[in-house]
Amino acid sequence: MTERTPGTSRVGLGFDAHPFTSSDQPRPLVLGGVHFEGEPGLAGHSDADVVSHAVADALLGAAGLGDIGEHFPDTDPAWAGADSVALLRHVAGLVDAEGWRVANVDCSVVLEAPKLAPRRTAMADALSKAVGAPVSVKAKRAEGLGALGRREGIACWAVALLESKEV
Ligand code: MG
Repeated sequence: MTERTPGTSRVGLGFDAHPFTSSDQPRPLVLGGVHFEGEPGLAGHSDADVVSHAVADALLGAAGLGDIGEHFPDTDPAWAGADSVALLRHVAGLVDAEGWRVANVDCSVVLEAPKLAPRRTAMADALSKAVGAPVSVKAKRAEGLGALGRREGIACWAVALLESKEV
């Protein structure tokens, strides 16, 4: 837990990355709670929603509540295939219970494909609803550099600002 007085604000940074699944084990691609039909999916214990995971870690970090791995261990069968937006909603509840209000969250998703622009508003809406505050989503290409540039996976960075609720 983080020390807190009214008027205090805290920032948190979240990062996550998941590789694409091999073609013999197809999975749906879910980013920010939005399903991308027909696109190769990401490997992971839950639904591998890399954007929701980065946002959750940003919120947990800002509130001093540890990280997503502590709250939802990938060794726990309870979280297999889990809906990560539901996990994010749970995290937002934990942050709220600690006396914090989420001011906003901003995300940068790094990927070569698919194009996020047509679904960016849907992602921002789904994430904002889960968090209870404005969440903005930006997309960046890695310009061919490294694993992300080779289309081996998708990564996301998120930053969250919390403000202490009046007590
Ligand atoms: Mg993850």
